[in-house]
Amino acid sequence: EHLDREIESILGLRERREKDSELYKIANEVFDKTTKETLAYLHRRGKIEALYGVISTGKEANVFAGIDGNGERIAVKIYRTYTTEFRRIWEYLAADPRVGYLPKDMRKLVFVWTRREFKNLQRAIKYAVRVPEPIAFRNNVLVMEFIGGEAPAPRLKDVERELEKEDFEELYNFTIGVIERLWKRGDMVHGDLSEYNILIHNRPVVIDWSQATVRRNRMSLELLKRDLRNVISYFRKRGVDTEDPEEKFRQLAGI
Ligand code: ATP
Ligand code: MN
Repeated sequence: EHLDREIESILGLRERREKDSELYKIANEVFDKTTKETLAYLHRRGKIEALYGVISTGKEANVFAGIDGNGERIAVKIYRTYTTEFRRIWEYLAADPRVGYLPKDMRKLVFVWTRREFKNLQRAIKYAVRVPEPIAFRNNVLVMEFIGGEAPAPRLKDVERELEKEDFEELYNFTIGVIERLWKRGDMVHGDLSEYNILIHNRPVVIDWSQATVRRNRMSLELLKRDLRNVISYFRKRGVDTEDPEEKFRQLAGI
């Protein structure tokens, strides 16, 4: 019907007819009615003109490459409305003092999760952390700046083999700087900072802000400690003369 035709148009199927493409397969698998309606809404608002490729498929979300109504490149993160991670998502949201009412059904909980990631991106930008610029969100769909050139930018994990000791040192300082600035100036912690969530595009860009939260969260110290441990252990293994994670933690936490 009408909605399906609008989705076909967003996916460029009318022109290309590549019904066996990866894009079509993923879309077919994960676009339920809510997602289709949400994409159609964003389409009519000029936020998404077309989706033309799959950047990443994950358990919780898929990320697509697209263009907006002005022909600008965008990345579109679309959360699955059903995930097996209900419990984890619920626990993270329940601990966040910014989140009020918590819906009981998965679909609506994912909407809250998506909105929180958008707000986290806005907040991180304020503290001069380089992240994809948030553009729009609705329900389970988040539209943001596309990071990359022709192709999406690689993750630190993807390029680590080509890096020299000096590169790692620079990236270590960058990453610790992000953790410090977020914590001290932004009262915020990323919570999943690793070589998988740093894109390398001219300068490094920190992505995946879904589990980020504020310092007032009762889990924030735990998340800070985890970020420090993961990041420091990664760079230490690559020859960087790092700080001690526990000491750095105590210093930032003020204990
Ligand atoms: P995963 O579970 O695979 O880590 P995720 O749900 O954590 O996925 P993200 O980390 O936000 O989601 O995004 C998944 C992947 O999509 C990233 O590793 C990155 O390669 C790509 N990606 C995300 N955002 C962008 C962006 N704005 N521009 C370009 N690529 C992006
Ligand atoms: Mn990720």
